[in-house]
Amino acid sequence: MKRVAIIGGGMAGLAAASELSRKTPGIDWQLYERSDRLGGKIVTEQIDGFTIEGGPDSFITQKPWGLALCRELGLESECIPCNSAAQKVYILVKGRLCPMPDGFRLTVPTRIAPFLRSPLFSWPAKLRMGLEPFIPARADDEDESISAFITRRLGKEAADKIGGPLMAGIYVADPERLSLMSTFPMFRAMERKHGSLIRAMRASAKQNKKTETPMFMSLRKGMGQLVQTLTDRLGDRCQTGQVVEQITRASDGWSLTVNGATRTVDDVILATPLFETGRLLGGLVPTARDTLNAMRYVSTATVSLGFRLPLAEVSQPMNGFGFVIPRSEQRRILACTWSSVKFAERAPADHALLRAFVGGEGREELVDLDDDALVQLVRDELRETWGLTADPIVHRVFRWPRGNPQYDVGHAARMRQLIDEVQAVPGLHVAGSGYNGIGLPDCIRSGREAATRVGE
Ligand SMILES: Cc1cc2nc3c(=O)[nH]c(=O)nc-3n(C[C@H](O)[C@H](O)[C@H](O)COP(=O)(O)OP(=O)(O)OC[C@H]3O[C@@H](n4cnc5c(N)ncnc54)[C@H](O)[C@@H]3O)c2cc1C
Repeated sequence: MKRVAIIGGGMAGLAAASELSRKTPGIDWQLYERSDRLGGKIVTEQIDGFTIEGGPDSFITQKPWGLALCRELGLESECIPCNSAAQKVYILVKGRLCPMPDGFRLTVPTRIAPFLRSPLFSWPAKLRMGLEPFIPARADDEDESISAFITRRLGKEAADKIGGPLMAGIYVADPERLSLMSTFPMFRAMERKHGSLIRAMRASAKQNKKTETPMFMSLRKGMGQLVQTLTDRLGDRCQTGQVVEQITRASDGWSLTVNGATRTVDDVILATPLFETGRLLGGLVPTARDTLNAMRYVSTATVSLGFRLPLAEVSQPMNGFGFVIPRSEQRRILACTWSSVKFAERAPADHALLRAFVGGEGREELVDLDDDALVQLVRDELRETWGLTADPIVHRVFRWPRGNPQYDVGHAARMRQLIDEVQAVPGLHVAGSGYNGIGLPDCIRSGREAATRVGE
């Protein structure tokens, strides 16, 4: 019987385990997780009726692997849609929250009237964005940064005010460094196919009218419900508090040192962050070591605050998903999600739950503040940007040191080469958010693909 070790019990490792147990009963697998719980970045806490997410709060449905896993686990009836009646996102501009005009899809205006009426952009910027259909399409496959791409197609103001905060915000990355081809490759494909993003978005908006699937989904009890269900299914083959310290070659496979003890296996799936994968694979795949070690990660924190309603004093009623803050505003939070509007049942009746994001590129030192200081910082920022003065009745801080992989320009090509080098060694496999997608659906897909290769 083939012996397999999975290292790391985050989404990717759990997806690999689920796939091994589902499809290949002839495999003797074991999952080792360093910390005292499974889930990695996924952590949900229930506090006084609030459902508080420390990491991901949802998954995108456009990529099918998240919903597919939920269905397999019998969780479909537990999946809840984001609140499609309140999808508005606000942007802080010169200290004021401005709504993103209706018809804006990521950074691209698809409806003319709301765009022209919006105070978000200057008239020269509106004119420049209106010229987008006439800008020649780029024909090659070279990567470029998100900022360079949006500036080229829609102008600098669009890149600074919307492209940066929205698109790079998802990756907590610097838009000047963030790779287009590793994050939003569909934009280049649209440019090539339709010659213009505006034309492409309008065409897809017409098609999408027919589909009812919400853009994001979550689970009734939070994303932790997915981890709990997997944990119940997979049983004690998933072990917590188990640190894989070293991997060496053995005469009959690979030898792992786990909490000082030796385990010998035929295949290893490393579902760990790239810096940890680099440490473990070190001398085993020397060609991959530099790329693994060079991968940048930044640290972030989330601060959730629960309030009694109404929040009479705020400058903008909570009628959307929240707001994002461009770097040019020089604030100490990156964004604030109105969590109890985005998803139902996140707060008790007559209460609200918010979540602010702190840290990221250039502001990582804020993550090291203690809980009281972080809560105070977020409260100060919410007062100055949004007018919120109410006292929270609940607060919870989660820190993610080196938690966010940075997909710099050229990332996809580097990862292709890296994965080829690792997989050229029989019995070694890698998975997780560092490679080809940070979102949960991509992590699930990468874990499953690693498990499928093991089974081949
Ligand atoms: C604040 C935040 C919000 C996010 N929001 C969203 C969202 O809304 N939607 C979305 O789709 N994605 C979101 N993401 C991204 C997504 O959550 C992550 O990309 C994903 O959870 C990472 O999964 P993973 O399995 O690759 O890694 P991880 O979750 O980091 O798991 C790796 C595991 O490996 C373990 N490990 C490391 N070294 C060892 C070792 N030597 N031995 C044993 N175990 C080891 C670690 O303890 C960890 O549990 C968010 C991320 C963050 C930080």
